[in-house]
Amino acid sequence: MNKDSHSHGQSSGQSELKVMKQCPSCAKEYEKAGIVVLEDGPDTQLLHLTCDACMNSVLVIIVTSQLGISSVGMLTDLNAEDVTRLRHRQPISQDDVLHFHDVIQNKQKDFIYYLGCKHV
Ligand SMILES: [Zn+2]
Repeated sequence: MNKDSHSHGQSSGQSELKVMKQCPSCAKEYEKAGIVVLEDGPDTQLLHLTCDACMNSVLVIIVTSQLGISSVGMLTDLNAEDVTRLRHRQPISQDDVLHFHDVIQNKQKDFIYYLGCKHV
């Protein structure tokens, strides 16, 4: 009897999206249709993910720096359009990201999960 082996193959060349492919609430994998890239800069990406199983939405910031790739996610009530409207055309800066980290560190209660920092 063979056991199903879940291989954790490291497929290189994948985008950082693979870091964030499961819903933190119900662990279902996100459908492509539920992923909206709000910003796709050279150093920062802002993604809005909606789980089609439990309908929870997560906002994810992915930052690439000399330190590696770090991604932070938090549950949000906003839909992708709301986020776009609220943000207007302000690009994400390193300051924003640092602030984001700061908020998370100081407000553990509101912090949902930290996706980790991957050193490259
Ligand atoms: Zn879910």
